[in-house]
Amino acid sequence: MKEYRPWSRSVGAGWQEHLVDPFLEVADRCPDIHIGQVKEKFGRLCLYVSAPEWAMNLAQALEEVSKLYCEDCGRVQGWRKALDDDYAKVTTAPVRGWYRTLCQYCRAEEERSRSLEEQAQASEA
Ligand SMILES: [Zn+2]
Repeated sequence: MKEYRPWSRSVGAGWQEHLVDPFLEVADRCPDIHIGQVKEKFGRLCLYVSAPEWAMNLAQALEEVSKLYCEDCGRVQGWRKALDDDYAKVTTAPVRGWYRTLCQYCRAEEERSRSLEEQAQASEA
């Protein structure tokens, strides 16, 4: 019995899978947890929640650890997929003016696609 959640896909897939979905599972089992909004703000996960203290603490902890998870792919700081992979470096920094929390791979991809968008806009103008 899920309430209507228009914001339920408002953050990147990495945060959704590792941080938001687990919280929603808890919320589905506890009628005292009301989620107003889920969003990204200055590169940090924001959960707008009205809930008992323990659930508020959980939401706060998830917001805090969001800076260690790539918002797009979910790689966590210091993790590597294979032995010869680089360790994930997750940073919160602007990409063309927008704060994002991303691993080095997604950051490079985001930089590339934003610059392609800007070039396309420039050539249309
Ligand atoms: Zn990533």
